[in-house]
Amino acid sequence: MHIRPNFLQQTIESAITFIYPAQCHVCKKQLGFESAPYICDTCWKFIEFIQSPWCEICGIPYTEDLCNSCATKPPRFGKLRTIAVYENTIQQAIHLFKFNKRYSLSHTLKQLILDNIPCDLNLTDYDYVLPVPIHKKRLRERGFNQSTLLAKGIAKVVGLRVLEDVLIREKNTSPQSSLDREARQTNIKGAFKIQNADIIRDKHILVFDDVFTTGATVREVVNVLWDADPMEIDVLTLARTLNPY
Ligand SMILES: [Zn+2]
Ligand SMILES: [Zn+2]
Repeated sequence: MHIRPNFLQQTIESAITFIYPAQCHVCKKQLGFESAPYICDTCWKFIEFIQSPWCEICGIPYTEDLCNSCATKPPRFGKLRTIAVYENTIQQAIHLFKFNKRYSLSHTLKQLILDNIPCDLNLTDYDYVLPVPIHKKRLRERGFNQSTLLAKGIAKVVGLRVLEDVLIREKNTSPQSSLDREARQTNIKGAFKIQNADIIRDKHILVFDDVFTTGATVREVVNVLWDADPMEIDVLTLARTLNPY
């Protein structure tokens, strides 16, 4: 019998919740009838959303048009926008979803993104959303690419097309979170390659990733994508740290 992996994962999640009375993974309070799994409704309310004014390019909260970093050395994307600051609830939710395979959180996170799309980002302006790929070995271990899953959820609602076969992760890099800023850039160098480049020529591309920290991954992805001559590359991430790009 063939059982869909998503169904299996969700069944296992429900069984675990039944056996162990659930606590909120952030504040440890006993969970009642909450609107999302694993994290209580109160903790969801403490998410720090990134609001304008922000730097027009890198999206970091800033009162003038461009932050110092973008004014002196502009990045190669048009703009980067992010839903929330990477801390507390959102950090825990992404961690549970990604590493503990709490698959059902993908629906909550997808909705969080859709409900808080930055005011100057119009999703229908793009030809494609391109989730940052993970290496096939990691995909086998994890069972899913968290960014692809979220991107597909968003794309389905707004009628966007998701590109999965243009950017390939060739190098199975060490997890970026274990490295410092300099090491991240070296680690990620040469990790991606393009195939079927014609698909994105002259197109408007929205790169999507779950977390943005030093920007090393996004920088490398954008550099590689420009080789295929798209018209425009913007970036959307679910969460980010607030250091400049
Ligand atoms: Zn809580
Ligand atoms: Zn900036």
